[in-house]
Amino acid sequence: MREGSLEAPTRHPLDWRSDTFWDREDLERELERVYDICHGCRRCVSLCESFPTLFDLVDESETMEVDGVAKADYQKVADQCYLCDLCYMTKCPYVPPHEWNVDFPHLMLRAKAVKFREGGARTRDRLLTSTDTVFKAASIPLVDVTINALNGNAGVRKVIEKVTGIHHEAPVPRFHSRTLRKQVKPLLRPAQPTRVGETSGKVALYATCYGNYSNPDIGADFVKVFQHNGMHIDVIEKEACCGMPKLELGDLDAVDRLKQANIPLLAKLVDDGYDLIAPIPSCVLMYKQELPLMYPDDADVAKVQAAFYDPFEYLWLRHKGDALDTGFTSELGSVAYQAACHQRVQNIGPKTRDVLSLVPGTEVTVLERCSGHDGTYAVKAETHDKAVKIARPVVRKIDQQAPAHFTSDCPMAGTHLANLADSVEAAEHPMTLLRKAYGLE
Ligand code: SF4
Ligand code: SF4
Repeated sequence: MREGSLEAPTRHPLDWRSDTFWDREDLERELERVYDICHGCRRCVSLCESFPTLFDLVDESETMEVDGVAKADYQKVADQCYLCDLCYMTKCPYVPPHEWNVDFPHLMLRAKAVKFREGGARTRDRLLTSTDTVFKAASIPLVDVTINALNGNAGVRKVIEKVTGIHHEAPVPRFHSRTLRKQVKPLLRPAQPTRVGETSGKVALYATCYGNYSNPDIGADFVKVFQHNGMHIDVIEKEACCGMPKLELGDLDAVDRLKQANIPLLAKLVDDGYDLIAPIPSCVLMYKQELPLMYPDDADVAKVQAAFYDPFEYLWLRHKGDALDTGFTSELGSVAYQAACHQRVQNIGPKTRDVLSLVPGTEVTVLERCSGHDGTYAVKAETHDKAVKIARPVVRKIDQQAPAHFTSDCPMAGTHLANLADSVEAAEHPMTLLRKAYGLE
């Protein structure tokens, strides 16, 4: 048996429709097997809180082996996993085709799913992961202003923490009744796109819940940069949440419902010649990886997967075909760029850095560290302090650099980090920086 696999990693589909997947005894046997391999390896100890939790359980047990850990405690490890996929993609030598067949994130997902089916979830967690419903309700005109004001009041936040379990210091999303879709509609105009390599130059922007209701300004940045580069861009009229928050909760039936709502719409756009992009890496990853692994035989899911791009991957592909304007008019200076986990695990390379580095007078420092914000981990009262601890190394680096701009592919990670760093006021989306470099108002 070799120590580590020398072959390219492969990923097995998620077997979530089999009876075995939901069988608790079978799950616990598999957890014990994989936990034992991890205990003997320990490469991932610094990635997140899951591995330290596991190793503490082992080290504090009577046998100091996995057989000394109570099965009832197995779930504690899964509860700390936010499915960033980094252990699978960047660390583990035992992933398939290695015969040990370790897929730690998907085993954690299975543990979350079984727990959810057996006992549901707290109302707080159901609400936090119902991004469509919550963001829509909170973005009604005047309701948005009221909620934003309440969220900015320290006393109210302590009451909210008591009632909901949302930490009083965690930055929470701001809500906007002038949604991304409303803001970009007047900007949309037809263009005659040119195909460059695999890109059609005709793109549909999947606004995402966070983009549409909480960070709507980035829509205009996307439209202006893509139009400036001769592409036709539309915004998808009606979409549901991609399902990533529900996946992280283990609510696979809700993921299935969202998939049924989104895939026919997106597949139709692909049939109409559109390529697909989104401003949040987690949503892109959902279509590029998680749904294809849940539905390996679904032709429409495969079609959408093939057409979905990270936006900077897309711009880089255009650049390789000499179709990206590099006549930038403004320098950006020093840029601290946090590469979001769900962008890094797409295996596309540091395309955000590459595109921003085309701007003259720009020095991009890449921070490849977890922000500790997975969408909900940093806002929960019981995990907020851990999220702050996870963020510390990257915050230290930002403050050492004191950059002219701080950016992250993920606006949620960016907001969390900017809130903790002393040297930056706020995070800017990389597309905002690119729009500025082009001198576009
Ligand atoms: S997927 Fe991410 S959060 Fe989960 S165990 Fe692996 S590194 Fe930790
Ligand atoms: S997931 Fe893989 S690399 Fe990480 S601790 Fe377990 S066996 Fe080691």
